[in-house]
Amino acid sequence: MMNKDLIENIGDNHISTNIETPLLPNAFDKSDDEKIENIKHHFAKIMEELGLDLTDDSLSGTPYRFAKMYVKELFYGLNPKNKPKLSVFENKYKYKKMLVEQNITIDSSCEHHFLPITGHAHIAYIPKDKVIGLSKINRLVDYYAHRPQVQERLSLQILKDLQAVLNTKDVIVMISAKHLCVSSRGIKDKDSFTTTIEYDGAFNNELQRNEFFGIVNNSST
Ligand SMILES: [Zn+2]
Repeated sequence: MMNKDLIENIGDNHISTNIETPLLPNAFDKSDDEKIENIKHHFAKIMEELGLDLTDDSLSGTPYRFAKMYVKELFYGLNPKNKPKLSVFENKYKYKKMLVEQNITIDSSCEHHFLPITGHAHIAYIPKDKVIGLSKINRLVDYYAHRPQVQERLSLQILKDLQAVLNTKDVIVMISAKHLCVSSRGIKDKDSFTTTIEYDGAFNNELQRNEFFGIVNNSST
């Protein structure tokens, strides 16, 4: 068991230990409905421990709403069965330049405090023989964002999947996001945000990266 100082330290420094989300081997043995029933029970206990009266009409449904929101909405991306199908197509136009998908909404949660992370992802790739439907990039981001996350790991998980499905290293993933655990507790900085950039292949070239940054920074939409 870690001591309390170390626990706070890992949270405040947002230290991630692994590219893979740490999951138990039996993570999905139970159905969603069973999970909702169990989480409802446990969250009611937390509310009671805080001193709340669950017989109040306004509070009585909260444990169920909370449990359903966790399993079906905020953390639906934990379960691989919810992963979007990333269909790719032949690059018939022989388009060989960079394609940028920008201002993709990030709605995630920090795994150290279970508080929201909100912002945008900007992603580019240079096609070889495969191209991907544009909305599939947004869906992949949405899927990985809907887990308890660390921003660095979120960037890497998106990058690795796109590289695998597009069969190229030439992918860049940039995420800029605000962390509620920084703005509403701890240091309580309302204005700072965090940017992560992960890339490989052609984007190791500074000129290629600068072309990407130029497009992202000149966004008028
Ligand atoms: Zn946090």
